[in-house]
Amino acid sequence: MDTTESITQIRETGVVGAGGAGFPAYVKVSSKAELVIVNAAECEPLLHKDKQLLDCKSEPFFKGLAIVMKAVGAKQGIIGIKKKHSALIAQLATQLPSDVEISPVADFYPAGDEITLIREVTGKIIAPGQLPISQNIIVMNVESLYNIGMQQPVTEKFLNIAGAVTNLHTVKAPLGTPLNDILDYARPTLSSYAVIEGGPMMGNLITDLADKVVTKTTAALLVLPVDHVLVKKYEDMAHPERVNKIGKSACDQCSMCTELCPRYLLGHPIQPHKAMRSLVFHRADSDESPIEAHTLYCCQCNLCSFVSCPEGLYPSQVCSNKRQEAIAQKASFEGSLSNPPHPLAEFRKIPSSKLKNMLDLNQFTDTGKLADHTFTPATLTLLLQQHIGAPATPLVEVGEKVTISQKIASTGDSLGSEIHSPANGTVSTITSFHIQIRVDYT
Ligand code: SF4
Ligand code: SF4
Repeated sequence: MDTTESITQIRETGVVGAGGAGFPAYVKVSSKAELVIVNAAECEPLLHKDKQLLDCKSEPFFKGLAIVMKAVGAKQGIIGIKKKHSALIAQLATQLPSDVEISPVADFYPAGDEITLIREVTGKIIAPGQLPISQNIIVMNVESLYNIGMQQPVTEKFLNIAGAVTNLHTVKAPLGTPLNDILDYARPTLSSYAVIEGGPMMGNLITDLADKVVTKTTAALLVLPVDHVLVKKYEDMAHPERVNKIGKSACDQCSMCTELCPRYLLGHPIQPHKAMRSLVFHRADSDESPIEAHTLYCCQCNLCSFVSCPEGLYPSQVCSNKRQEAIAQKASFEGSLSNPPHPLAEFRKIPSSKLKNMLDLNQFTDTGKLADHTFTPATLTLLLQQHIGAPATPLVEVGEKVTISQKIASTGDSLGSEIHSPANGTVSTITSFHIQIRVDYT
């Protein structure tokens, strides 16, 4: 395949960033880059999906990496993976193409943050607000490369099941599968529990499981006791007025949140203690606190809220709120964007073992096999927006029969992702948010 054919295929098969916000992969692959970095540095405690894919699905993964490297014209590929996975690294080393190397990285959080990973494996720092391509680099997720290597429509998602469950597995589920079906398979060990979708640091506490389905970005389901410290933190953060009120009265401006902020340590201008300080001030023209444009450079890793703050406050949530304000006001940061990294950055990394301990997750394991289980939901609910960009527009009608892998929604020429049916069936419902398919298993 030539470059144009590869980009078209990646676009047509609906590949998006499978580990983060769902950025359409064809856009990244449309760039020219000298280096492709594989982000295999899973850094959220308990998550191990990518490790399992590299272990069990390395052939399509390497095929996808080769397709991407060829399309962007990269002369080099680097797999950034935690050095603690020594057996897997040795296994991968036997399959490495000559233009790909492995860069073992230390076991800390957030090693999997793309800007942090680039620093770890190349020593380069991406300037605040810039993309990796500004340094001729693209970063690709393991599962995205697997999907590209499969060269067929993306209709399934790998996800970890972790926490207080019997089946501590990585599973592959059709897109649109109800999360309740995944939980039934997981078999929680508690009668009453809370569920976080994603990792413990950057996930979402699910308040109504009935509505939730597997999407192209569902990375994990984490089952925790309802009174677990993380559940309490996510519940608190869902109330911005409470976050602001407590932050206003209890922040003593110790600056620990800033001193341990991984982006600040790279020299980026984000300073969460200043966002906290602004809560006690008011703008001259309104009752609102000042715009804090440095929050535009927060990566929402939550380290400041879950680890750094000795008062148990939520600077990351304040930064998130402030960031939204800055975007709404079209504010831009006026200070320096070219600070050097902090001289103590190397010594302020948060080891994963310490993080796991601080989050009270030591009782849970972070291993588990890739299970050979087939989910058979009666109905699949395909969200029209499970990616960055425009929502997809349905190409089918209620009552229409669809076949597996058929394209059922498209974003056309807009930034976005095509959506395909994960099964044979009949379209039962279409709304502005989703297409439901009644599955035919005969
Ligand atoms: S969430 Fe906190 S620690 Fe993380 S980048 Fe933002 S301000 Fe820094
Ligand atoms: S670490 Fe906590 S108390 Fe200290 S400045 Fe940050 S938010 Fe305030």
